[in-house]
Amino acid sequence: MKIHEYQGKEILRNFGVPVPRGYPAFTVQEAIEAAQKLGGPVWVVKAQIHAGGRGKGGGVKLARSLDEVKSLSEQILGMQLKTHQTGPEGQKVRRLMIEEGADIKKEYYVAAVTDRGTQRVAMMASSEGGMDIEEVAHATPEKIIKVFVDPAAGLTDAQATELAKGIGVPDASVAQAIDVFRKLYECYMATDASLAEINPLILEGNGNIKALDAKFNFDANALFRHPEIVAYRDLDEEDPAEIEASKFDLAYIQLDGNIGCLVNGAGLAMATMDTIKLFGGEPANFLDVGGGATAEKVTEAFKIMLKNPNVKAILVNIFGGIMRCDVIADGVITASRAVGLKVPLVVRMKGTNEDLGKKMLAESGLPIISADTMAEAAQKVVAAVK
Ligand code: ADP
Ligand code: MG
Repeated sequence: MKIHEYQGKEILRNFGVPVPRGYPAFTVQEAIEAAQKLGGPVWVVKAQIHAGGRGKGGGVKLARSLDEVKSLSEQILGMQLKTHQTGPEGQKVRRLMIEEGADIKKEYYVAAVTDRGTQRVAMMASSEGGMDIEEVAHATPEKIIKVFVDPAAGLTDAQATELAKGIGVPDASVAQAIDVFRKLYECYMATDASLAEINPLILEGNGNIKALDAKFNFDANALFRHPEIVAYRDLDEEDPAEIEASKFDLAYIQLDGNIGCLVNGAGLAMATMDTIKLFGGEPANFLDVGGGATAEKVTEAFKIMLKNPNVKAILVNIFGGIMRCDVIADGVITASRAVGLKVPLVVRMKGTNEDLGKKMLAESGLPIISADTMAEAAQKVVAAVK
C-alpha cells in the first residue's frame, strides 16, 4: 500500500527525522491558509499523488508570495499530472501540500528496501539525489552505495558511517546523517514497510540534514497490525478493479495485455503469465484466487476481470490441491452464465476432482476450449485472441 508524501513525512517526523514544516490542503483556500500559517518568504506547492517524478511533471512549484501560492495552487489542484510513474493518462491531483521552502545546498538519496537476494533490508544512499535517481541507477550504478542490515544487529554505526561518508556528507553533518539513517531503518522496520525512500535528503546551507520528500510502500500482508497506516489509505489513488478485488480477498493486478488470467496460487499465476508471453501473448491481469476459493469468489473474480474492456480471451489455469477442480468448474460455469461471457475461454485443470470438473465443463454447453498442459493452454488462448 502506498501513501502520500505529507503522510510519509508525518511518519518520519514521528520517528524523529527532520522534515520541513508543511500542511496538506484539499482546496485553494486551505492552501492559502497553510501558507499564512507557515509564514514566508518562500513556499513550495506540491501535488500529492501516489507517484514520483512530480517535480519534472510540473507538480512541484516554488512560490515567493501568497498570490503565487494561490495561482500555483489553482493551477496544480485538479490538473492531470503525468510523470514517468503514472502512465500516459496521468493522475488527477486532488490534494496539495504547502511546505516551507528549504535552503538546499546539496541533494542526496537514501532508501531502505527489502532485498530478496540477501534476505535482508538494504540501505542505499547516493550523492546524486534529486529528480534523476533512476538515471543514476542505470548509467552510474557505482554512485549508489548499499549496505545490508543484519536483523539481529540492526543498522550498525559502522554501516551508517560508511553510507554518510560514502555519499560525501561534510564532516560537520555526518552525525546528523547517521542519525537520520538509523531512524529511517527503525521506521521501516516498525511500520512493516517494503520501501522507505527519502529523495532528496538535503544538506541545508546551515549544515542541517532534512528529508525533503518521503515515499513509502507497505507490505499489504502486515497491514492488519497497523490500523494507523490503513487510515492513510486514499482510494482515489488506487485502481477501482483492484479495490473491488481486495474486498473479496483476491490478489488482482491489472496489466496492459488482452488475455485475462484466472489462476490459483501466486507462483502458478506468475508462471502462467510467463507462458502466455512465451507464446507471444500479453496478459491483461495477474489474478490469484487463492487456495480455498469458493464458487462465489471465482464468480466475482470473473466479473472483475471482464470489466477490463481490453480482455479478448480468458485462460483459467488451476492446480487442484486444496482447491477442488469441480468447485472451479462450478464457479466458471456460474460466472460465464452470470456475465454472459462473450470472449473465448480456455480452461486447463489438474489435480483433485479433475475428471469431475472437466465433465461439468463439457456438459455445461458453454463454448469452453479445454487444454491439458500449460503450453497447450497458452498456445490456444494466444491463438484465440489473434
Ligand atoms: P518528486 O520526487 O515527486 O519529483 P520532490 O518532493 O522530490 O518530488 O520534489 C522535487 C524537487 O523539488 C526536489 O528534488 C527539490 O529540489 C525541490 N523541492 C521539493 N520540496 C522542496 C522544499 N520544501 N523546498 C525547496 N525545494 C523543494
Ligand atoms: Mg523526490
